[in-house]
Amino acid sequence: MEAYRAEEAPVIVEATGFTLIDETGKSYIDGHSSLWCNVHGHRVPEIDAAIVGQLGRVAHSTLLGCGNGPSAELAHELVLRAPTGLKKVFFSDNGATALEVALKLAWQYHRQKPQPDQRNLFVRLSQAYHGDTVGTMSLGGISTFHHQYAGLLFETLELPSPSAHLAPPGMTGEEYVLHAFAEAKRLINQHADRIAAIVVEPLVQAAAGIWVHPPGYLKLLRELATSAGTLLIADEVAVGFARMGSLFACEQEAVSPDLMCLSKGLTGGYLPLGATLTTDAIYDAFLGAPSAGRTFFHGHTYTGNQLGCTAALASLRLLEANKVLENAQALSHTLKSWQPLCEHPHVGPIRTRGTLLGFDLFADAAAKTPFPVGLRMGHQVTKACRQRGLIIRNIGDTIIVYPAPAMPNELLCAILQIVAESTLDVLRNASR
Ligand SMILES: *Cc1c(COP(=O)(O)O)cnc(C)c1O
Repeated sequence: MEAYRAEEAPVIVEATGFTLIDETGKSYIDGHSSLWCNVHGHRVPEIDAAIVGQLGRVAHSTLLGCGNGPSAELAHELVLRAPTGLKKVFFSDNGATALEVALKLAWQYHRQKPQPDQRNLFVRLSQAYHGDTVGTMSLGGISTFHHQYAGLLFETLELPSPSAHLAPPGMTGEEYVLHAFAEAKRLINQHADRIAAIVVEPLVQAAAGIWVHPPGYLKLLRELATSAGTLLIADEVAVGFARMGSLFACEQEAVSPDLMCLSKGLTGGYLPLGATLTTDAIYDAFLGAPSAGRTFFHGHTYTGNQLGCTAALASLRLLEANKVLENAQALSHTLKSWQPLCEHPHVGPIRTRGTLLGFDLFADAAAKTPFPVGLRMGHQVTKACRQRGLIIRNIGDTIIVYPAPAMPNELLCAILQIVAESTLDVLRNASR
């Protein structure tokens, strides 16, 4: 039992910097930012001290009927840095709730806006992932996660993901991207007056397996949302807070969404906290006397929790003090120039953007023939990495690497070395 546990899932008891240590004393590089969360490393003195300082005052009261300093200050700091027009902040406690808030705000906004309508259709991308609550599963396109609950979910309109690697045989990446742009236009225009919002992860679909969008796609969705008289919801839960080399991914296409969802890296990866940012126009549609029935009825118990907001404030300060965006850009350069698995007959094209990297393993990469599922090739690679002292995760036979944006470049190089060795080892054994 002990051996099984140690091999299958190390029990982490401690961490320092970018290293996790398990109960047996073995250390691992944290190659997946402790699941998209960690930004500055673990046990960062400044964030630790901020949380301890807040503990000396109060850990949690509530934002329902009371205010608190850290949440007000954090809302202010987020608005200062957010894309133009995002002026209001609604706190919740994780990524899925940040999305649920956005969905409900969008739905109700259309029913209460100056010329109200009954828009009821949400648009999403193929293989989208936005969380595991019922609302966010409805937006989900990953059938492994969601097919069991089909009867429970609401209708959505699916756009083809525009990632060039999805080109079917006989089509080039460029042709496929043009097709995806044309389909987005066609489908959104066709259903324009029913669409309540278009929901997208800006620049990269992270949980899909690092599906990198071509330049201009986010801008296209912004334009289509505006021309359809509907809203754009940007899910920055995974890509926000320096992972793309900018504070928010939307900045890179100069796009201002109507709603922006944040979590994961918001607290530097320390504590659960979510935030949904929106515009004055949407906020104003909820104003009125209580008897007018325009209230947004949504409240999570730990909304605006002081410890989480304090960690987030400390993390924002460190992002600037330690020039984390510049560091993330340097990491991005390292990932872009990584070669060892290129052209390998079992490895598909390497996809990378910002601090994220992903690639797929195939029985035949040229023909995109998958390995038999039972071989669990992806799992074998992550296991081989773990034996070499690196924790990353696979999604099926897709291997993904996403270091903390503040990680030193040498450590990222060490990660890449382990990923290359482990992958080659597993592939060599498979072809025996
Ligand atoms: C993780 C994730 C979510 C859900 O966040 P939780 O905190 O797990 O609920 C939503 N959207 C994206 C893009 C994510 O990566």
